[in-house]
Amino acid sequence: MEKKFQADSNGYYGEFGGAHVPEVLGKCVEELKNVYLSVLESEEFKKEYMELLRDYVGRPSPLYLARRMSQKYGCKLYLKREDLNHTGAHKINNTVGQILLARKMGKKRIIAETGAGQHGVATATVCALMDMECTVYMGQIDVERQHVNVEKMRMLGATIVPVTDGSMTLTEAVEAAINDWCSHPTETFYIIGSAVGPHPYPDMVARLQSIISEEIKEQLMEKEGRDYPDYLMACIGGGSNAAGTVYHYLEDERVNIVLAEAGGLGIDSGKTAASIHRGTPGVLHGSRTLILQTPEGEIVEPYSISAGLDYPGIGPMHANLAKEKRATVLAVNDDEALEAAYELTRLEGIIPALESAHILGALPKMSFKPTDVVVLTVSGRGDKDIETYLNHLK
Ligand SMILES: *Cc1c(COP(=O)(O)O)cnc(C)c1O
Repeated sequence: MEKKFQADSNGYYGEFGGAHVPEVLGKCVEELKNVYLSVLESEEFKKEYMELLRDYVGRPSPLYLARRMSQKYGCKLYLKREDLNHTGAHKINNTVGQILLARKMGKKRIIAETGAGQHGVATATVCALMDMECTVYMGQIDVERQHVNVEKMRMLGATIVPVTDGSMTLTEAVEAAINDWCSHPTETFYIIGSAVGPHPYPDMVARLQSIISEEIKEQLMEKEGRDYPDYLMACIGGGSNAAGTVYHYLEDERVNIVLAEAGGLGIDSGKTAASIHRGTPGVLHGSRTLILQTPEGEIVEPYSISAGLDYPGIGPMHANLAKEKRATVLAVNDDEALEAAYELTRLEGIIPALESAHILGALPKMSFKPTDVVVLTVSGRGDKDIETYLNHLK
């Protein structure tokens, strides 16, 4: 079957993607590109990866039929419970896979970037597990905002490097990590936390997260007697949980794909992270994609109440899915996400991450048939967001 929505051999999804890196990194990216597929597809890797996902992460994550939410939205709504994974979100699926790959490549030193700290914690966790040296770049402002995650990473043995350039947030943390990689290319493995960055990262991360849709297929078969839903729904920061959710259904046009990006205070407010609605094509962090930028190509500082969605770009897979109209992308604002988080909590007893609350906030914008089978990925749990929720208590 033709793979219309997957990366081609150069990492392009239509006009988006590729590997736009400084010359010093050319060799590292090339090395990674040359080995990742054969490693990921080897029996030895698959065995280790699947064992860790089962015994360490706690997979398969349940597919839960949310009865009260289904009644409210007039469909059969299943929640894919990535919030129940070890460390509280889907990010661990990816870090487990990348650290196994790093070991196979003989790398000794792991670096990562983090915004909210979730990817930093997931990386520090697998570094502790595998006894690898771990350095995490984090904007100074995020270090202050995400204190608990910083302490967790330190407890896990990671070195946190606060970045004080520019807006002192995720964008600069990624740049600092790339600079580190440029200075120590041979011994370092850079674990990127989302489906972004130069090829092969978006494709590699999508494959490592595709366990989500692999499980959805089996679980739906068992519960519904058919292995596909009518709708798949996920939030998008960089796009990794969404990529994993849709991966095995990309070419299956029976399945509608609905994604939610962070509208912030509204896509016309100037305070938004909606890079698909408001972005224009350009190169960010090694990939050609849609970016929040001025006509002169300066990055516009993104804004969202959710730190995990507060990124000025989007993975190239999703830029292409939106452009080709394979996915419907809705912008969900801060207030809508907060409302949705309370709704899920009160109707189902599940406190979602603020990021996941954005896709829940898309539900009121949909119109379903009662027979529609909808699978919505709850990418993470809300423990880290309790303070924000309490500040907006109803
Ligand atoms: C990091 C994060 C996201 C956003 O990242 P994606 O790569 O778009 O999945 C979404 N949900 C949670 C819980 C996160 O921690």
